[in-house]
Amino acid sequence: MSVVTRFAPSPTGFLHIGGARTALFNYLFAKHHGGKFLLRVEDTDRKRSTDEAIQAILHSMRWLALDWDGAETYQSQSAARHREVAENLVADGKAYNCYCTPEELAEMRENAKNSGGGTRVYDGRWRDRDPSEAPAGIEPVIRIKMPHEGETTIADLVQGNVTKANDTLDDFIILRSDGTPTYMLAVVVDDHDMGVTHAIRGDDHLNNAFRQLHVFEACGWDVPEFAHIPLIHGSDGAKLSKRHGALGVEAYEEMGILPEAMCNYLLRLGWSHGDDETISREQAIEWFDLDSVGRSPARFDMDKLLNLNAQYMKTTDPARMAAGVLVDADAAGITVSPDAEKRLVAGMPGLASRAKNTHELFDLSRLYLVDAPIEMNEKARDNLADPEARQSLNELAELLKKATSWGEDELDGIAREYAESKGLKLGKVAQPLRSALTGSNVSPSIFEVMAVLGRDETLARLEIAAD
Ligand code: GLU
Repeated sequence: MSVVTRFAPSPTGFLHIGGARTALFNYLFAKHHGGKFLLRVEDTDRKRSTDEAIQAILHSMRWLALDWDGAETYQSQSAARHREVAENLVADGKAYNCYCTPEELAEMRENAKNSGGGTRVYDGRWRDRDPSEAPAGIEPVIRIKMPHEGETTIADLVQGNVTKANDTLDDFIILRSDGTPTYMLAVVVDDHDMGVTHAIRGDDHLNNAFRQLHVFEACGWDVPEFAHIPLIHGSDGAKLSKRHGALGVEAYEEMGILPEAMCNYLLRLGWSHGDDETISREQAIEWFDLDSVGRSPARFDMDKLLNLNAQYMKTTDPARMAAGVLVDADAAGITVSPDAEKRLVAGMPGLASRAKNTHELFDLSRLYLVDAPIEMNEKARDNLADPEARQSLNELAELLKKATSWGEDELDGIAREYAESKGLKLGKVAQPLRSALTGSNVSPSIFEVMAVLGRDETLARLEIAAD
């Protein structure tokens, strides 16, 4: 059997981090088994679905590199198929038309409430009634005939066997009186038509699974394997909500989190592989299984995500990090020369190990992105206001011109020797040097900066600052 999974978001808002984790698990499970990962946009609720939300979801999926196989599908486009299935079920005696009025339904709800709840609300009054009794002029809904006796067990791949008494399950509506399918029907028909073998989703859908299972069976179709993952909770253990901070994946992108770090963090929320903290996409595909998904809710911890991000910043390929900075530079209207681009890649390890997110990285990178003359911030200008400081830059520049190689250690040696000869502390020399070369007062080690900038750019910046 070849595995087919799907992620089936309802486009009523951004991609929630819980949804992103569901998508990731579906993606990894499919890839692990050499199967397919499909994306189905569940836009049957036309009032609540928006195009903006669809775009936001697709954007975040792409950002997380959760690439789906084939084109995404839209549930609303299969409405005719859903209706046909419902009507076939009626023809087969597996479902029936129900002509109850809103008043009758309200009465049933009232009765169920008075009897203490826990049992069916709909009393099945059209279940076995002869269709010839149908009142004229009323468009019926279609209800599925659920079993009334016995129990239903779902062998969930995460939750284990979960059993429910059938007398708690209503003959629920599968087609509304306007001919549109309910969510419960649409999911089943689409999962079948798309050949879905494993439905991996949040455990808020576990109750639905009992109903959906009977729709699959009524249709005579194979039931996919179900895997219901515990929801994500906040760091205080309560269900994740707005007060815990950002819920949408986009917010993390805006915060300057790397998508790899985000995926790694989401993966570890509810799934583990020994004590491994950083897990690459390749490893995740190799290792992912549903047996290691925990049964209790994982807690979202912002600090852990930020720490993981810092770790990813340090270890990600410098060329790839530089590419991200160049995109930001372009957006900021900075033209980056080929020389500057080379400097950026060369200086990346030093920059990335000092940045906690991509915004900080971009700010730190500015010193390599531009060619002399560079902009100076106020502190840098203050440092260079002192004529003695400028004088020392001049003298140091003269010594540097004679340098036979341009490595960090040699440059460090020259500056030290110069400071000693003048009876100055190294800091006294390094401070104006930093200002002159970076236009700021924070940067990687100044000798690293000089090595990355190279001889010509370093001397050009010193000359301008000394002037
Ligand atoms: N559209 C449903 C949701 O966004 C998911 C349905 C499913 O995964 O079966 O919650």
